[in-house]
Amino acid sequence: MQIQLQKIRKPLFLAMFAIFFTACASNEVIVDTQNTAKKIVQSNSFTQYKDDFIENLWKQNPGWALYSGYYKYDDKLNVPSALNRISDLQDTKDALIGLQKFDPKNLSAVDVTDYFIIENALQSSIWYTEKFKSFEWNPSSYNVAGAFGLILNTEYKSLDERLRTISTRMQNIPDYYAAAKENITTPTLEHTQLAIQQNQGALGVFGDSLKSKVAESGLDAGEQKKFDARRRASIEAINSYITWLQSKEEALKATDSARSFRIGKELYSQKYQYDIETEYTADEIYALALQEKERLHLEMIKISHSLWNKYFSTPKPNDELIMVKQLITEISKEHTQRDNFVSAVRDQIPALVAFVNDNDLLDQDPSKPLVVRETPEYQRGIAGASINSPGPYDPGANTYYNVTPLDNYDEAGAESYLREYNDRMLQILNIHEAIPGHYTQLVHANKSPSLVKSILGNGAMVEGWAVYTERMMLEQGYGDNEPELWLMWYKWNMRVVMNTILDYSIHTLGLTEADAMDLMINQAFQEESEAKGKWRRATLSSVQLTSYFTGYKEIYDFREERKAALGAEFNLKDFHNEFLSYGSSPVKYIKNMMR
Ligand code: ZN
Ligand code: ZN
Repeated sequence: MQIQLQKIRKPLFLAMFAIFFTACASNEVIVDTQNTAKKIVQSNSFTQYKDDFIENLWKQNPGWALYSGYYKYDDKLNVPSALNRISDLQDTKDALIGLQKFDPKNLSAVDVTDYFIIENALQSSIWYTEKFKSFEWNPSSYNVAGAFGLILNTEYKSLDERLRTISTRMQNIPDYYAAAKENITTPTLEHTQLAIQQNQGALGVFGDSLKSKVAESGLDAGEQKKFDARRRASIEAINSYITWLQSKEEALKATDSARSFRIGKELYSQKYQYDIETEYTADEIYALALQEKERLHLEMIKISHSLWNKYFSTPKPNDELIMVKQLITEISKEHTQRDNFVSAVRDQIPALVAFVNDNDLLDQDPSKPLVVRETPEYQRGIAGASINSPGPYDPGANTYYNVTPLDNYDEAGAESYLREYNDRMLQILNIHEAIPGHYTQLVHANKSPSLVKSILGNGAMVEGWAVYTERMMLEQGYGDNEPELWLMWYKWNMRVVMNTILDYSIHTLGLTEADAMDLMINQAFQEESEAKGKWRRATLSSVQLTSYFTGYKEIYDFREERKAALGAEFNLKDFHNEFLSYGSSPVKYIKNMMR
């Protein structure tokens, strides 16, 4: 049920991140030229800086490069050893010094935001290595499967060539896992268990189906033999890592010596700044989320009072939140059938396109239609929906809206899922994922000439935009202001608000699992299974869950600010088009540019 945006799935941290800063292009040589000339010259060398920055980013993160559609280093698997980490850290510090030779005041609008995005990436990489140090305590950060699966399943060159690439790339797998064991000194129990589970899954990539692919391929006998030896060594290395983790897990339990998954207030506040890049502090966004929760409750109660008699002949419960919950449950019974789920999504898209056009909400690009499809088998985890975008190096490729059919559910599971994504909620999901949410934002972002923004896209802006569009569409009259649709949206939005409250409270205030479950089930009207999943996610990650609310709050408040400032001059379509023209930048920079 997790909604994921494939494009921004990047490694948890940029520890493998380094710049060999060579071009050291400073503006000292042109001191006495006039200002415009200076701008141009500096801008040219800043372009060079950015090119080097990205090239070295890929050199140091070949797996991430693959996810971005950059295949030059596809046969490289870097070993996460202490030695490499120290040298990467030094390179990152050098790159920061190199960057700070440029004066943002002399850069163009696009470059200024790029400058700050790169600066944040470098500073954050240093912070992750020196302070956050998840390489010591998060065993699940070590897993080689994803990139191998991607090479196998992406037809960027012939299958034979990809198999040869895989063969080369497998050579470092034993060293990779040996380094992982060296690094892990203070694991949490939760990340240890996750790592065991995920690496067991990783074995599948190197199993019989890979073996038979090689057997049927054009690789000659010698190549095949070499391939198989490396494949076996890979399986052995992964198995040995799993066994090692399993004994770690036993020891942690026996001695009760695991590191807490709660990262604590100090790390949390810092991580919030690096990951979200907002003007708010973590404390402020938490306070705002608490306030918003109260506002949403009041609105939901108001609607529920007005709708009650339409759905029930019994008297209203005395507890108003119970009244809301009962009404939501009742309205959720209006849903599509399990066999129709994917087509129900597909059928809704044209109405969304038309509504955006008819109401002049923002520009769309008919030459880049959204393709709704069943999620390919190899991408299926739990059921869900996600946008699979082409990435910065292949902007012409199709954008897919992956929707996972409910094949793997039993009757009760499917019914519960369909009630969650009932007729009204499904429309909100489609606004969020597709039009004018993630898909539309990505189309605009791909028009932005900045590779930096395409690659280091700000998650809070991306998620915030999608959440913002849900409310914007309803406010513009999508669904004819139907109270049922609004009620569902409030419930959906409450999840976003609750994510922030939970994440902050769990990591900095010691919120217990029982209290968290109570909050989600009784105040945010979530099902127990969903709440359990959310608890687990909040124990395995930090800060990311706040990105939705932070970005949404920033964008919505900024629009209101512009409306007030411009009065009759304010035009919603212009606001949206300009807002999206800066690509996936942190909202605080977009605000500066637009002001
Ligand atoms: Zn039903
Ligand atoms: Zn989203």
